[in-house]
Amino acid sequence: LKLLLVDFDGTITIEDITNLIWDRYLDFDWRAEMLPPFRVDKISHFDLMVQGYKPINATEAELLEYVRPLVRIRPGFEELLQFCRENNYPVVVVSGGLDFYIKAFLPPGLRVFCYTGKLNGYWQLSMPEGLVLEEGQNFKVWALEEMKKEYPGYEAIYIGDGRNDFPVSKSADSVFAVKDSTLARLCAEGGVYHTEFTVFEEVVEALSAKKLTYER
Ligand SMILES: [Mg+2]
Repeated sequence: LKLLLVDFDGTITIEDITNLIWDRYLDFDWRAEMLPPFRVDKISHFDLMVQGYKPINATEAELLEYVRPLVRIRPGFEELLQFCRENNYPVVVVSGGLDFYIKAFLPPGLRVFCYTGKLNGYWQLSMPEGLVLEEGQNFKVWALEEMKKEYPGYEAIYIGDGRNDFPVSKSADSVFAVKDSTLARLCAEGGVYHTEFTVFEEVVEALSAKKLTYER
């Protein structure tokens, strides 16, 4: 039995919604200023998000109105969900993005682990209710551990595209990385076995092929 953990921005969606929002609403070069400390683990992904959303005071409705026409869902996502339903594979979206935009693009009922954002003069971010990460503990690795507790013995499959997906990819049983993404490069450099894909049909095909091999 398999368990799927799927990143949202840049994986389920082709565009990264937070990047779109920051490109539109931050009046400084956030890539040059904010990414270098994140790349060398000087700040956590959560702190990066807190920093990037703090200067923004547009409402949820304004942000959604801006991003909606720009965002495409990666082809085959419905097929992947259908395949998982048919095989009773649990699917959970594990995202370092914000709940309000994730839920605006996903079918209802899909389980999501992500940060929460609330506009109180400026955007304030929080971890899921009750979760306090220890220093150096990674949010997505925590989510993987939670799911493994809930589904012991399941093969954990991680699907993602970004730097923030690399630590959890090292702990997952199999990894699918968006073709030519940062995650694909980091896995290649770090010797983490992974399969690259562009549309989710390729993931379905790979998972079905494996299943046949196991059952033979
Ligand atoms: Mg991503």
